[in-house]
Amino acid sequence: MDLKSNHTAPVVADSAPISKSRLGVPSSLLPYSSSGAFSPNLFLTVPRKKNGILDDIRASSLDAMKSSSPPHKKTRDFNNDLVAADTDVAYRTWMVKYPSALTSFEQITNFAKGKRIALFLDYDGTLSPIVDNPDSAFMSNDMRAAVKKVAKCFPTAIISGRSRDKVYEFVGLTDLYYAGSHGMDIMGPVTQFSDDHSNCIRSTDKQGKEVNLFQPAGEFLPMIDEVFNLLVNNTKEIQGAKVENNKFCVSVHYRNVDEKNWTTVAQCVNKVIRSYPRLRLTHGRKVLEVRPVINWDKGKAVTFLLESLGLSNCDNVLPIYVGDDRTDEDAFKVLREGNCGYGILVSSVPKESNAFFSLRDPQEVMEFLKSLVIWKKTTSAL
Ligand SMILES: [Mg+2]
Repeated sequence: MDLKSNHTAPVVADSAPISKSRLGVPSSLLPYSSSGAFSPNLFLTVPRKKNGILDDIRASSLDAMKSSSPPHKKTRDFNNDLVAADTDVAYRTWMVKYPSALTSFEQITNFAKGKRIALFLDYDGTLSPIVDNPDSAFMSNDMRAAVKKVAKCFPTAIISGRSRDKVYEFVGLTDLYYAGSHGMDIMGPVTQFSDDHSNCIRSTDKQGKEVNLFQPAGEFLPMIDEVFNLLVNNTKEIQGAKVENNKFCVSVHYRNVDEKNWTTVAQCVNKVIRSYPRLRLTHGRKVLEVRPVINWDKGKAVTFLLESLGLSNCDNVLPIYVGDDRTDEDAFKVLREGNCGYGILVSSVPKESNAFFSLRDPQEVMEFLKSLVIWKKTTSAL
């Protein structure tokens, strides 16, 4: 993979003719060049022109805040049968391009035959429902059981925007790999690959097992803490605003802020980061996120983990990434461009994506995970 390339447009619009990829699914984005070997150069900075002030301003505009925040609950419009029918038609039309991973399950497993599946899961909105209070984004016991079973069958990693400790607290399972702060804080296995890698430090996990910590943005920790404190202070008068320190990024949640005050939230955040040219602003679902300007994202975290786990050979490995957010698009894009794995977008509304398939909500994600376990057990028994 070329770490020098800029992934500044995670959501793409494409209308090229449908073609078949080696993954056996229609793809209008091919051909793509295959990604090369993982580069150890982790400190390439993203040019400010692409991810700097201009993006920050654009990202924090009210329109961007609205467009990045599709409703997660049914609105009153849905009570209107006509609107509901139109919405359903729009979703079904969208699913032609992004078929359900459940109805396409056979196609996925056919391609997985003879390969090892490596599973990557986002947390919020994928394993847990999006809730008003981000501290209450608990996953259900049923989901936890499903993740536990699937992780026994396939190498599984959780890649979240949350801090690694926080997402571990939510998931509470061992035998998984955890990447917090959008992949900027990875706890992975001790291997030669990670030993040779700069920014890897040997540590122990909560069970006392030896692990490697990979933190490409380590030098930003004091700056992130400083910005967190400033944002807490500057937004304390905005009712409903919540600032979360995710170790290598700071999240400003505006889910509970009255829409008429969203501009104030954006202005507050912009005012703070204006003094920090090495930080940039990105959008999640009703959240503004302040991150270091480094050439690192969830897509690079996937590549790093695959390399660390010795699973980077596309000929015998099938990575599957399930996520719901803009930040997951970086991972979808890596799999699509490498032509070696499947991105699955979790969404109940149509939106453009680099994913190949879709699932409507965490409930369907759970069904998909359960299906993978059954398939694995069935095929292993043959
Ligand atoms: Mg998410």
